[in-house]
Amino acid sequence: MISGKTSFLGLIGNPVKHSVSPAMHNAALEEMGLDWCYIPLPCEVENLELVIKALKALNCKGINITIPHKNNVARICDQLSPLAKKLNTVNTLIPHQDKGWIGENTDVKGFLEPLRYKEWNKKKALIIGCGGSARAVLEALIQLQFEEIKIIGRNKTKLNKFVQERQRSQDELISLNIQAILQEDKELEEHIANSELIVNTTPIGMSTNTSEAKISNEMPLGVEIWENLKPKTTLYDLIYTPNPTSWLKLGRKKHCKTIDGLEMLIQQGAASLKLWSNQENIPIETMRKAAENELLN
Ligand code: NAP
Repeated sequence: MISGKTSFLGLIGNPVKHSVSPAMHNAALEEMGLDWCYIPLPCEVENLELVIKALKALNCKGINITIPHKNNVARICDQLSPLAKKLNTVNTLIPHQDKGWIGENTDVKGFLEPLRYKEWNKKKALIIGCGGSARAVLEALIQLQFEEIKIIGRNKTKLNKFVQERQRSQDELISLNIQAILQEDKELEEHIANSELIVNTTPIGMSTNTSEAKISNEMPLGVEIWENLKPKTTLYDLIYTPNPTSWLKLGRKKHCKTIDGLEMLIQQGAASLKLWSNQENIPIETMRKAAENELLN
């Protein structure tokens, strides 16, 4: 029940109406006995700074950031965690004691959880897309010690900036084999055939309305390119609406292991809630059930 004492958390993005985060977080808040609620806050790019500053003035207890604001929000933060600074990407805002917001990134942790079932070191990976979440995915794959990571983008300038930024910020003593590949590359099919893990970080295939909208038949890089997909390849789609996407459905037909974005969403959400609430025990099972129920509605 919302009362005069209720505080709030929010999700800033565009679109946000497809998100299961409100259902997932509100279920957890109730179980944790916190008099907070979590609300979706659709926001245009030009209003981002204004909205974020206003939310601090309104004593908002924490914010999640989603598509397309993850990169832009980093420059609005008053402080960045070392990870958010390294990636220049923020998905979680924590209120600063004195002023503004501290930017953090919990996507890396969330993305890693479903991949922990096996060793990936010395394997080859392909990331499709080079936006906000791709930065978190790249960091996670580096942590898993992939031998080679190729990143496919549609915009040469953005793609090169993405790879150079990462190479500049790399202070570990390992030499990273990270390559930028343009979407038009003639050897795309070969790159796909050589990869043990392929991650879609673009919104292609995403339905922005879980109940009404028609399910998108689109696939990243088109449909034909996946014709010769090998069963040794794992497909990981960050999208969770629809669940599974057309791309993952095709992967299953080709006997590939497939991972959808739901577990990542749950794990990154739990990590954010831990930071906002300062509590160790987050009811992850409750969050999972609430998210799954929301997807069925
Ligand atoms: P973003 O920062 O806007 O990045 C999207 C990337 O996809 C950009 O590189 C963009 O290219 C590319 N792209 C967009 N439309 C494309 C198209 N039609 N063809 C080729 N490339 C295209 O977004 P984001 O925050 O990374 O989110 C991306 C997706 O991941 C969303 O669907 C989001 O819901 C999902 N996601 C899920 C989770 C989870 O917990 N499961 C977490 C994070 C994100 P340009 O730069 O050229 O525009």
